[in-house]
Amino acid sequence: MRRTLVIGNWKMNGSKEANANLVSAIVAEAGSVTDTDMALCPSFVYLSDIAKAVEGTNVSVGSQDVSVHLEGAYTGEVSASMLLDCSCKYAIVGHSERRQYHGESNLLVAQKALTAYKSGLTAVICLGETLSERESGQVEAIIGEQLQAVQSVMGADAIAKSVIAYEPVWAIGTGLTATPEQAQEVHQFIRSRLSVNAEKVSILYGGSVKSANAAELFAQKDIDGALVGGASLNAKEFIGIAAAG
Ligand code: PEP
Repeated sequence: MRRTLVIGNWKMNGSKEANANLVSAIVAEAGSVTDTDMALCPSFVYLSDIAKAVEGTNVSVGSQDVSVHLEGAYTGEVSASMLLDCSCKYAIVGHSERRQYHGESNLLVAQKALTAYKSGLTAVICLGETLSERESGQVEAIIGEQLQAVQSVMGADAIAKSVIAYEPVWAIGTGLTATPEQAQEVHQFIRSRLSVNAEKVSILYGGSVKSANAAELFAQKDIDGALVGGASLNAKEFIGIAAAG
């Protein structure tokens, strides 16, 4: 039985004060959510603050990225051991914004996932197709290629201990959501490609998830939770999504 997992990706939003208000509003309601695991991924610079604020609660902390390098002369990078130092449990890798704006390749994403895994973080590996790729019938080819890169670099055992997030690029921050059936089709495809403990791997959906559409997404057999962007900046929405699990 896979527990529902809801992860909030705060992206490059917030401030010390705004984050303190947001996290305290989330923590105040989190105790009422018993069937869903929750995590918050603020900007690197606020990780320690948020980790402190959720200490002793059922909410964990994760990062939005991780360096592929372990340490050394890599200006601006943040290593897995630093994230562990800040009490991170999860590290998102391969978010479409990293792929799109920072040129992250399938290979680099796979290497980051491996680094996270080997360091003791749970990698949240994002996969997703663009609108033109969907419209030209390439969904399985693109998702299959992204997944294959991770499988070759990490191996099946390591993927089985990671989390996968299917995030159609056209649904991120656009207000467009894949229908539950469209998402389920891709989740089922991803699961069919996992060769070790396929039934145990959590596959999250991401793309304009809100409290109003979470339940119908989570009702799908292979949708195990959500990676939430915009709606995670609103405590009531985030808790509403988690409570739908
Ligand atoms: C995301 O950035 O991972 C995401 C799914 O964003 P949104 O929920 O805003 O579409």
